[in-house]
Amino acid sequence: MSNAHFHAAAYALAASMLVLCLAGCSNDASRASLPSPSASATLSASSTNEQAGESPGSGAVVPSASLDLIVQGDPVLYSYEDLLSDVEAMAEGYPSWVSSDSLGVTADGREILHMVIGNPDATRRILITGGIHAREYMTTQLVMKQAAAFLEHARTDAARGATSYRSVLENTAIHVVPAVNPDGETISQYGLDGMRSQAVRDKLVSIAALDGAAPDYEYFRSWKANANGVDLNRQFDALWAEFQGTSHPSSDRYKGTAPGSEVESRALIDLTERERFDRTISYHTHGSVIYWYFAQTGELYDDTLAFAHDISAATGYPLDANYEALDPAGYKDWAIQSKGIPSLTIEVGVAPTPVPPEQFPTIWAQNEHVWETTLEM
Ligand SMILES: [Zn+2]
Repeated sequence: MSNAHFHAAAYALAASMLVLCLAGCSNDASRASLPSPSASATLSASSTNEQAGESPGSGAVVPSASLDLIVQGDPVLYSYEDLLSDVEAMAEGYPSWVSSDSLGVTADGREILHMVIGNPDATRRILITGGIHAREYMTTQLVMKQAAAFLEHARTDAARGATSYRSVLENTAIHVVPAVNPDGETISQYGLDGMRSQAVRDKLVSIAALDGAAPDYEYFRSWKANANGVDLNRQFDALWAEFQGTSHPSSDRYKGTAPGSEVESRALIDLTERERFDRTISYHTHGSVIYWYFAQTGELYDDTLAFAHDISAATGYPLDANYEALDPAGYKDWAIQSKGIPSLTIEVGVAPTPVPPEQFPTIWAQNEHVWETTLEM
């Protein structure tokens, strides 16, 4: 594996499969001086998934023991490096069931990781996303734990009712973007110290000034945007023009210069237009509520409401249809209005956000079977 430092733009073109380079890889000087979060992992663009051509499901290479995943330990804080490590472990441990790639590179040089669990060629396709809002980083941990649990059920050849997990993986592509906004999550978790680039650190300080705030721990802790100060869930073409929000780059509610102007939101738009999902779920915190309505009518209304009722039954969360009281231009709004996809926003946990780690066991119990419910298992 090369120890070369990857130029972000060149790397974005080259990356298709991801390999984690742990201790032993060189890190660049600016990163090596940071306290913890970015020092240990570097990506390289080569593929190790030697069995990637194997057909999913039947004949799958399945490990005899559970994968050793960080997310299964319910860490107090789940970092981008933890995510990278777990995605790598899943793709290597289940080469027949998991493929991973990058949807793009962020301003601070992180990958927008994307996994396909199951059969990439299946006509049935769903999308699960987490972490589009920085301070809602617990949703990344939740989605990864859902992935780990689903794969463990398949490994042990479990069934739910009359349906085996392995058979579902043969006829379904579960697309997962666990961290849409990895820079933002790292800002909320580690503040300026978590940033790799001095230019990004300088920009964050300038955004704090625009917000009239001190660039301190509390300010960055409640960050929602990406590293450019754009709220990624106000970046979709669903009443985007009507939404006012904040007029300058900010920690929260700045919609950017156009729908999809940011690499992270553009990645979700491109993925959705390419894959034509049957259903999507966007995880957020907090509120323990399900948003499902964006003025859709007819069959789309009926399908989305039925989906929402099923997820409500699985999670115990009530439905909220009062969309006019919410900010528009979110992913779910666009997926419903422009793409006609039954789509939900699930808000997990209760105040405050970031949701304290003590809530995670309850959130897990409420959301453990959301994938199965979405797949009508
Ligand atoms: Zn949110």
